[in-house]
Amino acid sequence: MNYADSDRAQELADRAHELMEEVVLPIERERPGGMGISSGTVAELREAAREYDVYAPQIAEEYGGMGESFRDALPVFEEAGRSLLGAVAMRVDAPDEGNMHLLELAGDDLQKETYLEPLVKGELSSGFSMTEPLQGAGSDPKMIQTTAEKEGDEWVIDGHKWWTSNGVEADVLIVLARTDPDAHPYEGCSLFLVPAEADGVEVVRDVPHMGGETLGASHAEILYENVRVPEEHLLGELNQGFTHAQERLGPARLTHCMRFSGMAQRALDIAKAYTSEREGFGSTLSDKQSLRYRIADAETRLHVARTAIRDAADRIAAGEEARIPVSMCKVFTANVTQEAIDLAVQCCGANGIGKDLPLAEFYQSVRKFRIVDGADEVHRRVIARDAFEDVPNEELEALTRFGDPNTRREGGH
Ligand SMILES: Cc1cc2nc3c(=O)[nH]c(=O)nc-3n(C[C@H](O)[C@H](O)[C@H](O)COP(=O)(O)OP(=O)(O)OC[C@H]3O[C@@H](n4cnc5c(N)ncnc54)[C@H](O)[C@@H]3O)c2cc1C
Repeated sequence: MNYADSDRAQELADRAHELMEEVVLPIERERPGGMGISSGTVAELREAAREYDVYAPQIAEEYGGMGESFRDALPVFEEAGRSLLGAVAMRVDAPDEGNMHLLELAGDDLQKETYLEPLVKGELSSGFSMTEPLQGAGSDPKMIQTTAEKEGDEWVIDGHKWWTSNGVEADVLIVLARTDPDAHPYEGCSLFLVPAEADGVEVVRDVPHMGGETLGASHAEILYENVRVPEEHLLGELNQGFTHAQERLGPARLTHCMRFSGMAQRALDIAKAYTSEREGFGSTLSDKQSLRYRIADAETRLHVARTAIRDAADRIAAGEEARIPVSMCKVFTANVTQEAIDLAVQCCGANGIGKDLPLAEFYQSVRKFRIVDGADEVHRRVIARDAFEDVPNEELEALTRFGDPNTRREGGH
C-alpha cells in the first residue's frame, strides 16, 4: 500500500527496506528459535544501518543523527518494526528512542553532551522511571509517591519504581519525582537524570515477564534511597515534569504505533506466504474464502491504522499536541496489531506457535502494547472525555417525554 509520503520519506523507507531484507531478516532467520542476540550482533546491525544510511534518522545531525523530520522518519519506524531486531539496528528502539527525544527537547548543552550524544552512538543506554508499585503512579500517574527534596545545591530522591524498561542495563535513569508536595502533581513534579551508579540506586530485580527473549531487555524494579544528584541533573523546567513527560510520551506512543504496524504487516505477510504454499482439503489454504476474508479485514484495519498514524504525525509535525488523535492511534493500532498477529499464528498452524518463525515472539511482544504508555482504557477515557465535551442536546428536541403528550410533532406519520 502506498501513502502520500514525501519523496524523502520514500527514499528513506526504500533504504530501510533494503537493510531489513539484506541484513536484518537474514540474521533474524539464522537465530535458532527465539535465542537472544549478543552485543556483537547489535553492533553489527548498527554498523549495517549506518552503511545503509538509516541510523538514528529522527535525531538532529549535531547530536549524531540524520536530522530527518518526524513525518519523514515515519516509514523507517514502520520498516524497523518488521523484525524485533530492526529498531535496535536503526537506533529507533524504545525506550532509548523516547529518552533521546526528551533529552533533545528538554536537555541543556551539558546534558546533551554527556547523555544524548553517547546514547545516539549506542555507547550508553537509558531508562524512564515513572511507574510505581501500588498504590503509586500507574494508570493514574497523579498517584506518584517518589519525592525529590532540595538540599543545598543537590536534589535528594527517594522512591520505589518498577517496570523501568532497560532498568538493569541503563547507564542513566530519567526519574519522575514530586518536587512540590503542595501543588497538584501536574504542576509539582520534575524529571531528573540519575546515573545508574549513583549511591542509593538499587536495582532490585528484572521483573520476570512475558516475552523479550530476543533482545533480553529488562523491566526493572528499582529503589531510589537517599539518592543525591547535583542540581544540574534536573531535566527541563522545575515542576514541569509531567509536561515534559507528555512531550516524550506523545510522539513515543506514535512511534510505538509505527513500529507495531510494521510488525502487523510482517505477520500478515508470513501468513499469506504460508497459506499460499500449504495445501489441505484439495486446495491451498489461501484459496479458502473464510481465511481470505479474515486477511482482507486485517489488511483493511491495518491500512486505517497507518492512515491515522500519518494524520497524527502530520499534526505533531505542525506543532499540535494531537492528544486525541494520538490516543485513538494508540488504542486502535495496539488492537489491530494484536488481532493481526493472532490471525497469522492461526493461519500458520503449529508453525505459528513454533519459534522457527517470529510469530510466537511477536505474539508475546504485542500484548504489552495494550498496557504500556497508557492502557486501552486510559486512552479511551481521554477520547470519551473529548467526545462528550460538546453534546448536541438539540438532537433530543423531538423526543417524546413521559407525561407530556404535546412533545410529538404535528403531522407525523
Ligand atoms: C513491558 C512493559 C514495559 C514498561 N516500561 C515502562 C517504563 O519504561 N517506564 C515506566 O515508567 N513504566 C513502564 N511500564 C509501566 C506501564 O506504563 C504501566 O504498566 C501502565 O501505565 C499501567 O499501570 P499499572 O501497571 O500500574 O496498571 P494499573 O494502573 O494498576 O491498571 C490496571 C489495569 O486497569 C485498567 N484501568 C486503568 N485505569 C482504568 C480506568 N480509568 N477505567 C477502566 N479501566 C482502567 C487497565 O486495563 C489497566 O491495564 C511498562 C509496563 C510494561 C508491561
